[in-house]
Amino acid sequence: MKAIGKFLLLDLSEFDAWLDAQQIKRKISLIQQHHTFIPAYKHFNGSNHFTLCQSMEQAHKERGFAEIAQNFTSFPDGKIMVCRSLNTIPAGIKGVNTPGICIENVGNFDRGKDSMSSQQKECIVHITRSLLTRFKLAPGETTVVYHHWFDLNTGKRILKEGAGSTKTCPGTNFFGGNTVEAFKTGLLPLL
Ligand SMILES: [Zn+2]
Repeated sequence: MKAIGKFLLLDLSEFDAWLDAQQIKRKISLIQQHHTFIPAYKHFNGSNHFTLCQSMEQAHKERGFAEIAQNFTSFPDGKIMVCRSLNTIPAGIKGVNTPGICIENVGNFDRGKDSMSSQQKECIVHITRSLLTRFKLAPGETTVVYHHWFDLNTGKRILKEGAGSTKTCPGTNFFGGNTVEAFKTGLLPLL
């Protein structure tokens, strides 16, 4: 565990004890999954976790956010950075931030781009499961959500794949795809 300012870098083995120790004063009912797109794998050198988070924070401030948008960032080496406090609403998906926790996964997981490492896969599955357990949420398509499932303009859930204005985030190959169907066959069985 290593801290620089508010940023706290954890090994995956440290995450559950850290989470147990947190006092959380807002109601959480869903966990958002994103990819950072930039930085991608080529920007990660194995030791620049803090620099990448500081750069993302700078970029988010330039977009008008008070601080870095996400609560957590996962890395290709399986480490996890605590970014925005869990007690602060994230700026992840318009429409579902108030009840949400935002996880940004470093990489570009669109098809043909970064191939997710086994360590990062394990990290994403583990922290998502731990958060579901902590907040007494059953794994499913309403408790774990992808950015792609929401209209960027209205913040409403899109009921038909291909409708509305969406991002590909968390990537067209994130655990096999970014659709609800892909979630059900790719990530959900691991949760
Ligand atoms: Zn996103």
